[in-house]
Amino acid sequence: MSESLFAEARQRLDLALKHVKISEDAVEQLKYPKASLQVSVPVRMDDGSLQVFQGYRVRYDNTRGPTKGGIRYHPNVSMDEVQSLAFWMTFKCAVLDLPFGGAKGGITIDPKQLSKFELERLSRGYIDAIADFIGPDVDIPAPDVQTNQIIMGWMMDQYSIIQRKITPAVITGKPLTMGGSTGRETATGMGAYFAIETIMPKFQAVRESTTVAVQGFGNVGAVVADLLCQAGYRVVAVSDSKGGIYAKQGLDIPSIRSYKNSTRDFRAVYCEGTVCNIVEHEIITNEQLLALDVDILIPGALENQITENNAHNIRAKYIFEIANGPVTPAADRILEDKGIRVFPDILVNAGGVTVSYFEWVQNRSGLYWSLDEVNSRLKHKMVEETERIWAIAERESISMRTAAYVHALNRIGEAIDAKGTRDYYISQ
Ligand code: GLU
Repeated sequence: MSESLFAEARQRLDLALKHVKISEDAVEQLKYPKASLQVSVPVRMDDGSLQVFQGYRVRYDNTRGPTKGGIRYHPNVSMDEVQSLAFWMTFKCAVLDLPFGGAKGGITIDPKQLSKFELERLSRGYIDAIADFIGPDVDIPAPDVQTNQIIMGWMMDQYSIIQRKITPAVITGKPLTMGGSTGRETATGMGAYFAIETIMPKFQAVRESTTVAVQGFGNVGAVVADLLCQAGYRVVAVSDSKGGIYAKQGLDIPSIRSYKNSTRDFRAVYCEGTVCNIVEHEIITNEQLLALDVDILIPGALENQITENNAHNIRAKYIFEIANGPVTPAADRILEDKGIRVFPDILVNAGGVTVSYFEWVQNRSGLYWSLDEVNSRLKHKMVEETERIWAIAERESISMRTAAYVHALNRIGEAIDAKGTRDYYISQ
């Protein structure tokens, strides 16, 4: 990659700035993160040795409220990646009109190499290291790639030990019994489903003849594949990090999900089964999945999956991003020239942080909601903001991605300006 991920992320902002009227002060403030922290996390391994892991937390902007964003465990985690993800969270929270700024955290580690005990010590050690940087009114972490409910539970417990009081609102995505919200585990997939259901009728799409390929059969991809399959869409391909499967007539997603769940062999807290083990279908690679001739392509794995190197091969008509940053700015331009419509991460995958917000509200009020209440509030927010962004894109003749940034920038700019702009001070 020639440019840093953050420099690439910033390009999206520059495009959107041409279509908004926000103060120079707001633009200046959004150039850099508010605060970045790098920590070393020493962990006593099961064999008695000590290993030190690198952890990060970046709080990008908190004008609209405490910062919010997940924690990822992955070998490629770096300050550049965490900073970019924190930047995206800032816009994502504004797109959904949540009273939060953006943040992100991560540890450079392949968590599948650790035992459960090592994973717990690492997770608690990370919270020890960043405890002064987070808090229910300051910065609220959540799950991201390869972190889950169990890990959020350990982290909430560790923070509560440090504070000497039970503090569920410090982190979201917790187990239900520790103050988690109903519907949080399925929220990102369900939010993406509501966005797809709001958009596709605008193209007169008929569900039964709409084919879908989903890259990434994890917590998010499997949920959206399942919901689309249940609604009548023809999900023809899914993949995970080990590879994918394809069946022209459509896959039976519920049985693939239960297969993956039944082969779950927990080395740590991760699923060891892979969709490739389902043999009745054609085996394809992730690269082949991305290039399938389908109506909807859903990249749900990591960033930089569709780049200038493979964007020419994409044959889908619509791309709904459920991963963060799966399409690079260079690929955006190629896809646009090919007439492929891209629906951006900061809208499509915002269901997760939206229900995280509901979880935080429930933790602070002490009153817990039913699954129906969570899902209907989620649906309302996703449909409303998808329609607003669609209207901006139509009015300004811009991509849905730029429209989403315009929408978010207007909200963030307004909040920054509420504290006073240079015009206000100069005219005194
Ligand atoms: N990690 C998720 C995201 O990228 C969720 C963040 C949250 O719930 O705070 O949107």
